[in-house]
Amino acid sequence: MPAKVLSPRRSASRRRASLYPLDRELACDLVAANRTLARLAVLDAFGHVSVRDPRDPHRYLIARSIAPESVTAADILVLDLDSEIVDPRDEGKLLYRERFIHGEIYKARPDVNAVVHSHSPTVVPFTVTRAKLRPLLHNAGFLGLGVPLFEIRKSVGDGTDLMVLTPKLGKDLAQKLGKDAAVVLMRGHGDSVVGPSLPNAVFRAYYTEINARQQLAAVTLGGPINFMTRAEARTANDAMLRASSRPWALWRRRTMAELRAEEP
Ligand SMILES: [Zn+2]
Repeated sequence: MPAKVLSPRRSASRRRASLYPLDRELACDLVAANRTLARLAVLDAFGHVSVRDPRDPHRYLIARSIAPESVTAADILVLDLDSEIVDPRDEGKLLYRERFIHGEIYKARPDVNAVVHSHSPTVVPFTVTRAKLRPLLHNAGFLGLGVPLFEIRKSVGDGTDLMVLTPKLGKDLAQKLGKDAAVVLMRGHGDSVVGPSLPNAVFRAYYTEINARQQLAAVTLGGPINFMTRAEARTANDAMLRASSRPWALWRRRTMAELRAEEP
């Protein structure tokens, strides 16, 4: 069988990768993001988190295909925005099948530096009914930026398993997310949440789930729900962009302690 020939662009990209060892600090942040969202029951055995490489905006860091609560720094790898590996040493590693969500969102949204894709359990009912997920909790003001719904049937028709398994589907999802929203719902599947930083994307993924839970609780209490106004949501989002570093510090510290306890 003939040897696989790399395209000039891809081989150059791989040569460059070998010049840059993985940013350990950022890899640890990504481990903390995975484990935190698993601990908070936003991620289960599935779902994934990525962060754009600050040294090269055309690449991002993500774990190999593994359950988020098990991720360690050794599992973190670098992909380009076509969601292909850039380091030959990662050849053969199992990649997340839905990684195109991340690469295509980074291509479409230069302001986005982190992406969380989850099957956030309380969010899913809002993807299959006419109920609109709207911000009622001040931490979730970012929902006021819009909560579009990605309907996979409109993209590729009937008969899929609802997963984003191709670059085209990733691109369509990113297009549905649009230029402003922080969250795109995925029918019968979950959501993808973005942020300007990893701490903020983790914060938003968590509070998307919490707001959904509280909205469901408010509906069961009955009567009209007093949602945040557009102006309140905007102000609250600005405040939370600054405040999300506080829970992040707590979450990261807890994860580091957990990792130390796991050491033999
Ligand atoms: Zn998924």
